[in-house]
Amino acid sequence: MIHASHLKELPDVEHGFGTVADGAWLPEDAHAWVKQIHSEKILRANAIGLQGEADAIVTTAPELWIAVRTADCLPVLLVDPVARVAAAVHAGWRGTSARIVAQTVLKMLELGAELSSLRAAIGPGIGPCCFEVGPEVSPHFGLEGRTNIDLAAANERQLLDAGLALESIWISKQCTKCDPATFHSYRRDPGTAGRMVSAIRLL
Ligand SMILES: [Zn+2]
Repeated sequence: MIHASHLKELPDVEHGFGTVADGAWLPEDAHAWVKQIHSEKILRANAIGLQGEADAIVTTAPELWIAVRTADCLPVLLVDPVARVAAAVHAGWRGTSARIVAQTVLKMLELGAELSSLRAAIGPGIGPCCFEVGPEVSPHFGLEGRTNIDLAAANERQLLDAGLALESIWISKQCTKCDPATFHSYRRDPGTAGRMVSAIRLL
């Protein structure tokens, strides 16, 4: 399990970015989850179970794990420990391009969160070393032709533009495709890759 240091230090928050070794560390009947569709859709969860089709979950409910599943796409966990609002986001290139992380921050602010106390953690995903895309994707990131994309940097940019402080953002920087012993990777093992579970809850 991988932990962001600035979330780990919070006494009323639990979180983790799962690895291959952690498997399905949260059973489906023990957390709120969504059917992920590479969208910018956000759902608010108040109880355990499938919430519907979306790629981000926000909650203010105590004790409720909210989780996303990834294998190359980025898991992003956010929390305002003062206002007690948490979010889990699945951000691949489509979700990143649709600014799902920025929109999740706005949703959290609607629920009472404040930029000054918001913390964000960008978990392990495919790194710029391995995420080569073609001309159908690069224009979504202001680039051209066949090129490599840094999804974590794009999401960090969205968080900074949304108003988070640089020191409130943690980035794993680990590449899922480069490290088969630790991470599942869809690009490395298409068809057979498992998924990693990343989750957060307010205590
Ligand atoms: Zn890599």
